[in-house]
Amino acid sequence: MRKPLVAGNAKMNLDAKCLLGLLEALKADLALKPPGCDVAYCPPFTMLADAGRVLAGSAVALGAQNMHWESADAFTGEIAPAMLLETGCRYVILGHSERRHLFGETDEIVRRKVTAALNAGLHPIVCIGETEEERKAGATEVVLTRQVVGSLGGITLEDPSRLVVAYEPVWAIGTGVTPSPEQAEEAHRHVRAELGKILGSEAAERIRILYGGSVKPDNAAAFLGRENIDGALVGGACLRADSFLPIIRAA
Ligand code: PEP
Repeated sequence: MRKPLVAGNAKMNLDAKCLLGLLEALKADLALKPPGCDVAYCPPFTMLADAGRVLAGSAVALGAQNMHWESADAFTGEIAPAMLLETGCRYVILGHSERRHLFGETDEIVRRKVTAALNAGLHPIVCIGETEEERKAGATEVVLTRQVVGSLGGITLEDPSRLVVAYEPVWAIGTGVTPSPEQAEEAHRHVRAELGKILGSEAAERIRILYGGSVKPDNAAAFLGRENIDGALVGGACLRADSFLPIIRAA
């Protein structure tokens, strides 16, 4: 039985005052009516420590949007896994399409980060997804297989419930356009089958696969109701409590 996870990715949005106010609002609402799913929120690095203090003891776990795979050394501008743990992080998003496409992250880089995150005790949320051109060319499954094998092949996974995969079609991120829930379910089914080939079918059954890409209050339930969709990774709609909370409730 996989417990759904709804994770918010604030990206490079909101100032500290707005973000901490939003977290206070989420915390208060979820304390009144506890969610039936896991919830995570991933602020920018500079706000992690304060966000960790606000969220301590609440139903919302803290997550980061990226990290380096090394534990220390001369890596100007980078953040190590243990530094995330110090702020109270439980989750870390890795290989988001913006990291892959704007900052050149490859499957091999993502794989190193996943290994480091698991070794540190973090729960990685590993993003994969095809571009519009790849979907139009009928290459969605080939691309997903390549990303699953490249980003997760050879990892040691003692507790499969610690690994989260997010299927995020690149063309659906921030566009308001989404695949149909059936198309998303098909992609998730394929990803789970590929996870089974490299990590074993028992592990694959326990790994949560989130859907991400223009999830909103009015479409969340349709995605979350599918057998292989175990939650959502939410960008734009996580920037306000009145759009993020209904998605959490839908899960
Ligand atoms: C994302 O960037 O991970 C994302 C899913 O964004 P949005 O919800 O805005 O499409």
